[in-house]
Amino acid sequence: MSFAASVLTLYPEMFPGALGLSLAGRALEAGTWSLEAIQIRDFATDRHRTVDDTPAGGGAGMVMRADVLAKAIDHASPPGDERPRLLMSPRGKPLTQARVRELAAGPGAVILCGRFEGVDQRLIETRGLEEISIGDFILSGGEPAALVLLDAVVRLLPGVMGNAVSGEEESFENGLLEHPHYTRPQEFEGRPIPDVLISGNHKKIAEWRRAEAVKLTRERRPDLLAPDHPLVK
Ligand code: SAH
Repeated sequence: MSFAASVLTLYPEMFPGALGLSLAGRALEAGTWSLEAIQIRDFATDRHRTVDDTPAGGGAGMVMRADVLAKAIDHASPPGDERPRLLMSPRGKPLTQARVRELAAGPGAVILCGRFEGVDQRLIETRGLEEISIGDFILSGGEPAALVLLDAVVRLLPGVMGNAVSGEEESFENGLLEHPHYTRPQEFEGRPIPDVLISGNHKKIAEWRRAEAVKLTRERRPDLLAPDHPLVK
């Protein structure tokens, strides 16, 4: 069973975009995952194919209409569809590697990309949308956020990453930022690769990497380090 993504957007041309290349692109071609980009405008009912209107209560900008979006969502995700319905939104719960893993283990996702000021609140409530943010900044639309989310999910699908071990050792997977990396040449602009890494002593190398990861995490992301973290001594 492959991961099925349905993306609702005013700009279906943005998909697969970057996800049509490299690992994700090859996996898409291989059928490891599928992507359907649905034009929200196709569900408008008036002659001008209107999808937005002025905000109730006044103010700047436009709001995406609940009725049009509901039609689009009900088409993409009919009763019985087990996939979670996500709304990319700066008000959402920040995306984490843990949620990415859960999504990758599931049947897929229906992803609504907002535009303008956002979507009518009644749509979020009646269609049970899970709001997900990719960070504390504002994009002009949900499409880049959907691409980010799908990139993170697709690389975890079975068979997508050649070296599965590297996925488990990465930043966040063990609650720490990753240790620094080095490769040839042995000396670059007067800086050698740390001795321990060319010592051939795998126990020492593992210890050094763990210590560097803890140090880096302490410096940059102390919020990730719970006092009882098993790797913190
Ligand atoms: N007026 C809104 C911002 C709208 S930005 C506010 O202040 O909260 C337009 C659309 O871009 C949003 O509907 C959402 O789909 C998307 N978007 C913007 N920033 C995002 C973020 N950090 N994470 C996920 N989606 C985002």
